[in-house]
Amino acid sequence: MARAALMDFDEALERFEPVIGLEVHVELNTKTKMFSSAPNPAHAEFHGAEPNTLVAPVDLGLPGSLPVVNGTAVRYSISLGLALGCSIAESSRFARKNYFYPDLAKNYQISQYDEPIAYEGSVEVELENGRVFQVAIERAHMEEDAGKLTHVGGATGRIQGAEYSLVDYNRAGVPLVEIVTKPIVGAGADAPALARAYVATIRDIVLALGVSEARMERGNLRCDANVSLRPRGQEQFGTRTETKNVNSMRSIERAVRYEIQRQAAILADGGTITQETRHWHEDTGTTSPGRPKSDADDYRYFPEPDLLPVVPDPALIEELRAALPEPPAARRRRLKGEWGFTDLDFQGVVNAGLLAEVAATVAAGATPAAARKWWTGELTRIANARGEDPAALAEPAQVAELAALVDEGVLTDRLARQVLEGVIAGEGSPREIVDARGLAVVSDDGALVAAIDQALAAQPDVLAKIRDGKVQAAGAVIGAVMKAMQGKADAARVRELVLERASGGEG
Ligand code: ADP
Ligand code: MG
Repeated sequence: MARAALMDFDEALERFEPVIGLEVHVELNTKTKMFSSAPNPAHAEFHGAEPNTLVAPVDLGLPGSLPVVNGTAVRYSISLGLALGCSIAESSRFARKNYFYPDLAKNYQISQYDEPIAYEGSVEVELENGRVFQVAIERAHMEEDAGKLTHVGGATGRIQGAEYSLVDYNRAGVPLVEIVTKPIVGAGADAPALARAYVATIRDIVLALGVSEARMERGNLRCDANVSLRPRGQEQFGTRTETKNVNSMRSIERAVRYEIQRQAAILADGGTITQETRHWHEDTGTTSPGRPKSDADDYRYFPEPDLLPVVPDPALIEELRAALPEPPAARRRRLKGEWGFTDLDFQGVVNAGLLAEVAATVAAGATPAAARKWWTGELTRIANARGEDPAALAEPAQVAELAALVDEGVLTDRLARQVLEGVIAGEGSPREIVDARGLAVVSDDGALVAAIDQALAAQPDVLAKIRDGKVQAAGAVIGAVMKAMQGKADAARVRELVLERASGGEG
């Protein structure tokens, strides 16, 4: 595939104004599916189930089977709508969106079309540079997820070039809420960062509500990013592309930035943008064409005849409103105060989309400073190298345990990083890994003293220098001891002991 020409980002921004629109799909973690009693694989209890084991007749569209709306999914959707500042429809309806696709056995998806359950909301999103945006929400509607296809045999995992495809209907019928923003204008060069920060904010809201596990790498939270450019000064929006299912927060920012640069090069060259979906390629950091898309997609939507309208009791809505967690902006202000972080440190956490992880790690017993350090330091470094989100690598409780082991003096930072590697590799909890890999710090002074005496005896010139008052010479001995202990010693303690032994009665 020919590589697309790209315009320099700053130049693109001088000539064009980006407009973005974000569609976020949230898989709800109800126990059962949207319209059937089959277990929901997005619920913790049913993770990792064998393919095609979490399926009811409704999920396969078997003749005679009829859908029933999941009441919990409706309540979760209302809570989410309220948390997004939306109005809740007195009456909303399901609709059939008709299309053939092998992962949707009914040949239609039950979704909501012109009568979504929630509409007209607003979310406050703050960027690392301090800019605050009110992102207008157009609607949040309920729908069911489709199954999952696995294309086997090709080089890319896509259908092109595959030998055969497998279909797993476990995901068919998983309850989804799709949250759609209005077109976002005015972000300028901040558009890519805003896209990322918006998704991070949605994730925080969803996690605070407890309505989804919101793991992007597992597809619990998926984002389609619409991007268009218009020449500066032009009123009318340009033609948009929709980059599908970008599965990490970092990739959302990269994908929006890439589309701005790609579209700018085409427009500057006198070309036109094709309205289409595009695929994001994590490895190359590029997008490629998906399918053409018209505004009036011919899905032949019509009201779902097998379901009654959803007419929530106003008392229920007020009950759910009263039970809403703190709004994200207020929560951020509170946590910032409680943790005592600087603006820069706190925004770093928020913008990395790690607020939920740091908060959960603190709740599991770590100090805020240690929680921040592990998530924004080592875990982010490893995640970036792997092209994943840090949240995909470790659980907050594991990070808290790691921090506790450092606090207790069982691990040095260096050893803790090795333990973390084990955690990421799925070897167990930090304590289990310390035991299994024998990684604990040697805190037994006897063993250290023996190694120190040996090192001093091997380097008599260094010993003489230390005795002469040239304490910086001790570094060579400390290094030798750390090496002998395979790094499993506390360097500060070794230094103390080296100086003690060197000046002590040794000869
Ligand atoms: P579709 O059915 O194509 O997915 P949706 O209405 O679900 O359409 O979502 C379209 C998204 O694109 C919305 O977030 C909308 O605000 C945004 N959008 C619409 N027009 C433009 C445009 N010209 N440029 C950028 N974003 C746009
Ligand atoms: Mg859409």
